[in-house]
Amino acid sequence: MIYSVTMRAIVFDGKLEYRADYPLPVPLEGEAIIKVSLAGVCATDLEIIKGYMGFKGVLGHEFVGVIEECSDDRFQGKRVVGEINIPCGKCECCKAKMPAHCP
Ligand SMILES: [Zn+2]
Ligand SMILES: [Zn+2]
Repeated sequence: MIYSVTMRAIVFDGKLEYRADYPLPVPLEGEAIIKVSLAGVCATDLEIIKGYMGFKGVLGHEFVGVIEECSDDRFQGKRVVGEINIPCGKCECCKAKMPAHCP
């Protein structure tokens, strides 16, 4: 159950900005809304604010939290951790068992 339509976020769009009213994302099929308990800042985040990969958006891909909303009820209320990579499972990197390098 979602109690708010906004969330706190550190957003990068050429500059860093703390937002207390960032819109809560709407999960697509196969995605979930996670209430973050703890989040970390890693070297990738520090590179992102220097321009790495041209990323723009919400920082903080290393976290632990609890699933609040998911199309699959089996995951409701489960504790989960974040993963920066989303391997496709089909490209040459994935087929070579290197999913962390999936483009
Ligand atoms: Zn990281
Ligand atoms: Zn892949």
